[in-house]
Amino acid sequence: MKNDVSKSGTASRAVERLVRGVATSDGAGVRLTRVLTQVLQRRLDPFLMLDAFRNENPDDYIGGFPDHPHRGFETVTYMIAGRMRHRDSAGNEGLLGPGGAQWMTAGSGLIHSELPEQEAGLMEGFQLWLNLPAASKMVAPSYRDIPPAAIPEFEATGGVRVRVIAGESHGVAGAVSRPETEPLYLDVHLPAGARFTQALPAGHNAFTYTYRGSARVSGTEVPDRHMAILANDGRESVEVEAIGDARVLIVAGRPLNEPIAQYGPFVMNTADQIRQTLDDYRRGTFEAAVVKSL
Ligand code: MN
Repeated sequence: MKNDVSKSGTASRAVERLVRGVATSDGAGVRLTRVLTQVLQRRLDPFLMLDAFRNENPDDYIGGFPDHPHRGFETVTYMIAGRMRHRDSAGNEGLLGPGGAQWMTAGSGLIHSELPEQEAGLMEGFQLWLNLPAASKMVAPSYRDIPPAAIPEFEATGGVRVRVIAGESHGVAGAVSRPETEPLYLDVHLPAGARFTQALPAGHNAFTYTYRGSARVSGTEVPDRHMAILANDGRESVEVEAIGDARVLIVAGRPLNEPIAQYGPFVMNTADQIRQTLDDYRRGTFEAAVVKSL
């Protein structure tokens, strides 16, 4: 038996399940893989969705995501390759490039577009949706563009490179912190054979996503473009070992344990709040100002 430990051990959490995701398209025909789908929202609370996109053919991304609304949660876009321009209902805009991220708090609501700023070449990245607690769902909308140089990085043993988008890793604080859900979001680049261990609070839901090569997570092989859901088995870390050169996202957060009511781009707690949201949207209240924070 792998990873056999005493009940208070700190050994690596077991892999509970591998998830390949569902091929789909969204926006104006952007092909993507929905890795974290609606059926996993309770299991991976506070995360609501993870989309992975990696398209060489411009026909599969050129339409982008024209104007659409959001309310009640946060979107975290992380680019590996390609450029995406975003604009919102308050007139803000920004350009997201390779290695950069955008952290957007939809809060009470905004309308935005996310459109490719290229006509050829690879477009690759991820969009993660992080829920807001009931008490914060109607905060004023805001967003932050995080250029590549503003994402803290460090090198760990064995030539492992770690980019800390959110949370903390080996004493390095990430670009973003959120006290309510304490999200951890790491992009870990491992040379073949290297190992990396990340501490994880026992009560937090956690997963990895391998997006290059393949890796062993707590001894279980996780192929390219697969999510590994980590068991909530009381263990307080995860160990990733690269089989060939590999790149792995590690994501974790404290569950909110609140009801989730989703209707497309709106995520509230009750059906009544969704009805109110649709009403507000039709009345045009989503046109209000969006704050850009630096
Ligand atoms: Mn959007």
